[in-house]
Amino acid sequence: DPQRLHNPMSSHSQIELKVELGERSYPILIGPDLLANDARLAASVAGAHAAIVTNTVVGPLYLERVAGALRAAGKKVTEIVLPDGEEEKTWENLNRIYGALLRDKCDRKTTIVALGGGVIGDMAGFAAATYMRGVPFIQVPTTLLSQVDSSVGGKTGINHPLGKNMIGAFYQPQAVFADTSTLNTLPDRELSAGLAEVIKHGAIIDAQFFDWIEENITRLMARDPAALAYAIQRSCEIKADVVRKDEREGGLRAILNFGHTFGHAIEAGMGYGAWLHGEAVGCGMVMAAELSQRLGFIDAATRARVTALVRAAGLPIVAPDLGAERWLELMQVDKKNEGGQIRFILLKPLGSPLITTAPQDTLLAAIGACVE
Ligand code: NAD
Ligand code: MG
Repeated sequence: DPQRLHNPMSSHSQIELKVELGERSYPILIGPDLLANDARLAASVAGAHAAIVTNTVVGPLYLERVAGALRAAGKKVTEIVLPDGEEEKTWENLNRIYGALLRDKCDRKTTIVALGGGVIGDMAGFAAATYMRGVPFIQVPTTLLSQVDSSVGGKTGINHPLGKNMIGAFYQPQAVFADTSTLNTLPDRELSAGLAEVIKHGAIIDAQFFDWIEENITRLMARDPAALAYAIQRSCEIKADVVRKDEREGGLRAILNFGHTFGHAIEAGMGYGAWLHGEAVGCGMVMAAELSQRLGFIDAATRARVTALVRAAGLPIVAPDLGAERWLELMQVDKKNEGGQIRFILLKPLGSPLITTAPQDTLLAAIGACVE
């Protein structure tokens, strides 16, 4: 059990990682009860004033804990509670954040604290990147997806009526506090959605981690804190390493889109919100494994392992039947494409990525094998 190797003294100790980005480097803390016990949260707020951005679901659960810790350390705290949901990741809500900051006389030394999932993290991060041309920012991710994915890497932003995440900035936080205890209140579907990105990290980068996820999927689904902490740690290490090598998505960072070409087509084809992003990515990984097998990059047994793990994580493995035309049309709008050719992240073999195009007949056969 790798968890024991990392924490020989206790299964409840904190893990600390560092994202190495020169002068923009920052720590990621992972562990149970970080928000309840950790004076480090207050210590990482440099100035005298913090503005916590959260929503109407997470606020009632955790806002008092975070605000209390900061006030106890003598900080002035502004609380900004936004409506919940992906459809609220808008210009209007961003403007609400600016309004609250201005009304409370937040200055360039005020630290913005994002308390919530990826929606709050992206929106508060973009507010931090732009308020007074940039103020300090701390991430307190409270969903598994945000702990293993969106809180690492510095992408911030909002949606536009004409496209998701179309307005934004690269902006790194001062620190990330991933409190695994907050995952106890997460709905099952959201837990599974986060596991999709964990599986993705194993499948494209680290076959040994993929083995570990297979062996520990029951513990992960049961929210075993030590298992979750290791999955978060390894995911953050893998993503941080990719981001360190390609902070602004010049090339390598595209491998993090494994399962996403098919997944984005499912999300758009079914209407945003019908499938959670992680659910679409889970099914998309099954489809990418199918295509990898048909191109001779992995064998049938490996394809079956990917399918079994996605299923065991509570994610869908059968794709919706959108029709061949619509599938192609939806995948052609993918941001990774160049010159009209669809570019796929495939497994060659499990644990290492290959970015390539595929013959259309092979692609359509792979889709056909995955739809119900
Ligand atoms: P989310 O933020 O909408 O959270 C999912 C739901 O869980 C929401 O209803 C939320 O209020 C609720 N919730 C959050 N924490 C909870 C808790 N501890 N207990 C109970 N309920 C809780 O969704 P998400 O999956 O965390 O993030 C998705 C967003 O992240 C998308 O907008 C996506 O574009 C973005 N994203 C960004 C990056 C990046 O690199 N910046 C990467 C991946 C995803
Ligand atoms: Mg994703």
